[in-house]
Amino acid sequence: MKLFHKDIIVWILIILFVILLFIIYEQKNDRYIKLEKNQPETKQFDPVVAKKTKKLVQEAAQHGISVVITEKFRTKKEQNELYAQGRTASGNIVTYAKGGESYHNYGLAVDYALKNDNGEIIWNTSYDGNNNGQADWFEVADLAKELGFEWGGDWRNPDFPHLQMDFGLSIRQLQDGLRPKHNQNKTE
Ligand SMILES: [Zn+2]
Repeated sequence: MKLFHKDIIVWILIILFVILLFIIYEQKNDRYIKLEKNQPETKQFDPVVAKKTKKLVQEAAQHGISVVITEKFRTKKEQNELYAQGRTASGNIVTYAKGGESYHNYGLAVDYALKNDNGEIIWNTSYDGNNNGQADWFEVADLAKELGFEWGGDWRNPDFPHLQMDFGLSIRQLQDGLRPKHNQNKTE
């Protein structure tokens, strides 16, 4: 009899575990979509990233800072060409990511720069165009972080112009075809 009870408990635990796995799987399904294998690369800028980028430019303007978005989506081929720069091609190293290893390749990243009073695009991180004693570059980074962006300037190998949103997806998961699924009601 005792043995019988133990078996029942083991089975109940197994069933509960399966139910739990199912719930986790369903939640993941609700947040992400999975692309078909071998589907051609979609050159799509993520709609939420697009919206937040627009908001960032507007908010920066309210602070007297003119932000220029210099890069959005980048194809894997373009990423590989960029990776070659400073390695097998001339120039300085500008990225540590090969094709498929950057959030730019999935429309989830942007690069910014500033526009000075002469209308020139600048990458000067100490420029203080709005004369408030703070470098505009870092003010923009702070605004971006408030909007939910991760800033490349916080990385061990800093990438100061870079902003990205991963929506909980690693590069590995993106390479496997997972993409953020945006519920219109949840994006605000
Ligand atoms: Zn970037």
